Amino acid sequence: MPVYEYRCQDCGKVSSFFIRSIGAPLEPVCAHCHSQNLRRRMSSFATGKTTQSVHDSHTSPSDPGYYSDPRNIGRHVESSFKRYGMEMPAQVRETIEAAREGNLPKEINP
Ligand SMILES: [Zn+2]
Repeated sequence: MPVYEYRCQDCGKVSSFFIRSIGAPLEPVCAHCHSQNLRRRMSSFATGKTTQSVHDSHTSPSDPGYYSDPRNIGRHVESSFKRYGMEMPAQVRETIEAAREGNLPKEINP
């Protein structure tokens, strides 16, 4: 059951309302001072979810910790090949897949 939180514009306190059905008309009244001057407030659950999805969509190689997630290894290479419509060479793919499994390539000596 969704919970809407409203902050009272008169006393500043937050009241929570259980919504029985989506789209049901809601006329929130402050539980503390009975004011009807309330403003919708994002619940902590919804805010956390939004923060997470924003973080995901902005993950890039410039972020610290990007490469600590093995799934991100080679992602830039993959997208580069995809962007140019090229097939990724088998050797590159194998190196990336090995790295994702923890087998980091040895230092390449010129
Ligand atoms: Zn109030």
